[in-house]
Amino acid sequence: MKKLIASLSASALVLSGFGLSGAAASPPKPLVPESAHDAAQARTKYPTAIGYGGAVASVDPDATKIGLDVLRRGGNAVDAAVATAAALGVTEPYSAGIGGGGYFVFYNAKQHKVLTIDGRETAPAAMPTNAFIDPATGAPYRFFPELVTSGVSVGIPGTPATWDRALRQWGTLSLGKALKPAADLAQHGFVVDATFRSQTLDNKARFAAIVPTAKLFLPGGDAPQVGTVFKNPELADTYRLLGAKGLPAFYGGPLASEIEATVKNPPKTPGTALPVMPGHLTTADLAKYKVIDRAPTKVRYDGLDVYGMAPSSSGGTTVGEALNILTPLQLSKQSTPQALHSYLEASALAFADRGAYVGDPAYVDVPTKELLSRGFGAERSCLIDPAKAAVKPVKPGVPDGQYGACGATTVTNERPDTEGLSTTHLVAADKWGNVVSYTLTIEQTGGSGITVPGRGFLLNNELTDFSTVYSDADPNRIQPGKRPRSSMSPTIVLRDGKPFLALGSPGGSTIITTVLQTLTNRVDRGMTLPEAVAAPRASQRNTANVTAEPPFIEAYGAALKPYGHTLVPSGDAFTSAAEIGAVAALEFLPNGGFLAAAEPTRRGGGSAGTVHQLWPTNR
Ligand code: GLU
Repeated sequence: MKKLIASLSASALVLSGFGLSGAAASPPKPLVPESAHDAAQARTKYPTAIGYGGAVASVDPDATKIGLDVLRRGGNAVDAAVATAAALGVTEPYSAGIGGGGYFVFYNAKQHKVLTIDGRETAPAAMPTNAFIDPATGAPYRFFPELVTSGVSVGIPGTPATWDRALRQWGTLSLGKALKPAADLAQHGFVVDATFRSQTLDNKARFAAIVPTAKLFLPGGDAPQVGTVFKNPELADTYRLLGAKGLPAFYGGPLASEIEATVKNPPKTPGTALPVMPGHLTTADLAKYKVIDRAPTKVRYDGLDVYGMAPSSSGGTTVGEALNILTPLQLSKQSTPQALHSYLEASALAFADRGAYVGDPAYVDVPTKELLSRGFGAERSCLIDPAKAAVKPVKPGVPDGQYGACGATTVTNERPDTEGLSTTHLVAADKWGNVVSYTLTIEQTGGSGITVPGRGFLLNNELTDFSTVYSDADPNRIQPGKRPRSSMSPTIVLRDGKPFLALGSPGGSTIITTVLQTLTNRVDRGMTLPEAVAAPRASQRNTANVTAEPPFIEAYGAALKPYGHTLVPSGDAFTSAAEIGAVAALEFLPNGGFLAAAEPTRRGGGSAGTVHQLWPTNR
């Protein structure tokens, strides 16, 4: 142990190896609280931490602290992940919570295996295939705010069942114990930061249209002010109920009946102009809901084993296929503009195949194995012109097991992309070497906007991840009981059979490119993990233009122009943020050390910590 402390703490060499030299003597600047009141109450948060004994990273300091406390009390990474996720349901209620779903990826140190839980929301049994079409016009409803803010968009939540399944299989805590710190946080409150306020303001009009949502999130008719304490005692009670009675209290009993009633008859504010259409979810759907234990996706990249989430998420197949496409190109030997060109082109090709082949495997035949095969990746890779961006959208390939000559790249139809830009990711690791990479969501920031009255949580709008217009050829067409295709990409990377990296991000379909870009930044482009997370992002999802953060355009726009990439600034009509993603990641250091890395500035900056912290020391 002494050796470890010596090697990690005293050595400027070790710290400089992680991009922290110079700063090694002085810890990074803590993120500045937004008001005097905030300063009095909020804990200092650091985006990067080095230490040992375990690590947690998330977007939120209260959630990260709760996860670290669980580890300090002897809990394992699974216990910490569930406790952290429950806390995010309190402090990030617009991104995650028991009204939503997600994907839990776990490296089990004892079994030397990566295992996953698919906790995706499902469509109700009575969901019609034309649910998103307005019968009055025959055309789709407007996506935002009408379709999003409706009972039609609400899927059967998977998050409570995910927590329960993870704890029962691999945890040491009961659900009640894992939820207790988050219940206390909901009861006593957290300090509102600028991100929470601006997310509330972005949703003010539609939140005001739903009585219990306005009551909870717009007290006195306004978004809570930065620096004030936000309490949610109703959510505290719901967590306590779930803790005491277990899953039957959510998927059955009075709460299930209330969820059905809320979806079928959304509690609209009298006189509101929003239609807030009724949905189809029933207590029978809730009673039937099951999470699915799935084998992870796996590809070999640069001597590493990269594990991800299999369909119903497209995360694992798309990140994995893109890595296979990049393998023959050897990014680490390419110049920065060349490597970025390769990254953008590989991503477009993988997205073409995602669109053509990936959906819920219980309903459509997904060629997961072929999408992830080396041969298919190589065939797709040879379509990349090293000097010129292909005309987008590119055509999907044929993952049929017969690979040889390059497939043709021709123009196909560009599909609209309406996935939300919210969601949240967390990572947790413990001293036994277990690792969790967990992404959870309620889809759009604020989900459906519909709060279950008296229960303190928002219902998801995950079903809008289905394609809006039904087509038999579309793997992501609406079907009753089906899981909409996700982009969530919780990832764990092993090196020589041992955990090396864990990462993930929110951001709708940009999740895939953010994970891919962060991975290649770290593995091929000579960046440390904090640098890889902080680097400006661009996202090519098989569309004519590349969406890019303004700093990316400033840094690389000119260098990428000769290749024919058109970069347009990121940001959408629904939110005030122009950021792509919000990564939480960790890296295993030699000798049992951990480097935890959250965002330095995106989403107001994240929070990383370790159990026995060596750097920064004043925690
Ligand atoms: N609903 C999206 C998905 O499952 C995630 C939304 C988000 O990141 O905001 O892929």
